[in-house]
Amino acid sequence: MKEDYYDILGVNKNATAAEIKKAYRKKALEYHPDKNPGDSQAEEMFKKSAEAYEVLSNPDKKARYDQFGHAAFEGGGGFGGGGMNMEDIFSQFGDIFGSAFGGGNFSGFGGFGGGGQRRVKGSNLRIRVKLNLEEVAHGVEKKVKVRRKVQAKGVTYKTCGTCNGRGQVAKITNTILGRMQTATTCTTCGGSGQILDKRPSDADSQGLKVTEETVSIQIPAGVEEGMQLKVTGKGNEAPGNGIPGDLLVAIETEDHNTLKREGDNLHYDLYISISEAVLGTSKEIDAVGGKVRIKLEPGIQSGKILRLRGKGISSINGYGSGDLLVHVNVWTPKELTKEQKEFFERMQGNDNFEPKPEKSDKSFFEKVKDMFS
Ligand SMILES: [Zn+2]
Repeated sequence: MKEDYYDILGVNKNATAAEIKKAYRKKALEYHPDKNPGDSQAEEMFKKSAEAYEVLSNPDKKARYDQFGHAAFEGGGGFGGGGMNMEDIFSQFGDIFGSAFGGGNFSGFGGFGGGGQRRVKGSNLRIRVKLNLEEVAHGVEKKVKVRRKVQAKGVTYKTCGTCNGRGQVAKITNTILGRMQTATTCTTCGGSGQILDKRPSDADSQGLKVTEETVSIQIPAGVEEGMQLKVTGKGNEAPGNGIPGDLLVAIETEDHNTLKREGDNLHYDLYISISEAVLGTSKEIDAVGGKVRIKLEPGIQSGKILRLRGKGISSINGYGSGDLLVHVNVWTPKELTKEQKEFFERMQGNDNFEPKPEKSDKSFFEKVKDMFS
């Protein structure tokens, strides 16, 4: 009678994937052959736990086991008498042992011997793109020249003989638990599993060649200084069947002469004369996408904020646009002619010139509160 997989790992049937993994890791470390040299019982337990984990960590196999027990794996496709061999265990679950040492050192296990081979990725390239406010507001397509490595014309690659195309080689390492087998990146092929076969004269030792290419970058509206965009696959190519790196685009933004950005809103300071404020006027102001003419009613107060809806920056989330907020400033003359001075002196105490703020003329603080609500 074969032992129950749950019993082997010491978990109950409702254990989560994380609990199963944790339990296996504990068992694997406890019965690790390097920790129990010459102990065939420990080795047996080590193999049994690996076999149990192999089933219980795989949702399909676990479901079959839960339904049919060991019968699910009998008659072919099972583990036979010997169960898993050590090589299988290390190659499939090596990362579990690795994490006992803080990870990192043992990360070379991904794909060794087991599933598909790791594909080497070419290096990323970095460029900066400078945008004016106009481009930020509406988004823009930028064409940039990039010098990137690509596989030279006529280059061919063949399977690496050192690692047989796996990209990794087994290595014995001394650890605090004793000697352990780990996988390291094959130094012959650099992990790609392939080496140069035919090297054209203009190619480097990896069969790559630097070329200048024009890459089109779609920059969405609403980006900000310091943001980074990624153009997938436009970095350096990798040798063999590797995948190309990415082009990383750092965004820089130019200040605008008159428009100040705040989130998706833009602010514009408009200065008008006292007579314009009294008589009313119409003014052309800067906006993204061109000038906009706005009308100011007679009697407009200094400090008034006019909101031009949707004339700000398009949101990077795609949810509409910010507004353009025009701050009205009435310019008080510093020098007056004798006549002008006499006029204003005559107006002193005149009822029309007396401040009479209405409820609708909100204070500065209330306006600011409104803007951010
Ligand atoms: Zn190799």
